[in-house]
Amino acid sequence: MLGQFKPTWMVSAIYNITPTELNKRGIKLVLTDLDNTLIAWNNPSGTIALKNWMQELEKADIQLVVVSNNSKRRVGQAVGPLGLPFVCRALKPLPFGINKAVRNWKATKAETIMIGDQLLTDVLAANSSHVRSVLVKPIIKTDAWVTWFNRFVERYVMKMLVKKYPKLTFREDLYD
Ligand SMILES: [Mg+2]
Repeated sequence: MLGQFKPTWMVSAIYNITPTELNKRGIKLVLTDLDNTLIAWNNPSGTIALKNWMQELEKADIQLVVVSNNSKRRVGQAVGPLGLPFVCRALKPLPFGINKAVRNWKATKAETIMIGDQLLTDVLAANSSHVRSVLVKPIIKTDAWVTWFNRFVERYVMKMLVKKYPKLTFREDLYD
């Protein structure tokens, strides 16, 4: 049961994940959560670090797709300025949104990863869909109260995970 919440990797921020490490592992499709993973709610246009990272992925021919539980309107508004494709109403922690992206962008699950800041939605969805996952630190801590409640449960799950898998800790890039 606990294993369902275990991320494949833990990396401090999304833009620390380098195309070199992605290539080494045969990853061609990078799915990412939106809020607090890719952008902060108070900085919807993203940071320079994010934009540089997106350019690096593009150069390396790695496809980036946003997979969000939010509505088409909300996700469209958020990713419009970044020019990214997206799957909305993804129903994470269920696997549907991830499966849809894998189908649409014609990748295999072995060539796909899901990046997100929440064990209970992003990582669980990735594991349900049998794709590898990266847990990142949330960009900012203040958040809607529903998310705040989730984070309370998250902290508990993380505590249990670290107990069972003592090597789990945030690193600077993908690792073996
Ligand atoms: Mg999030």
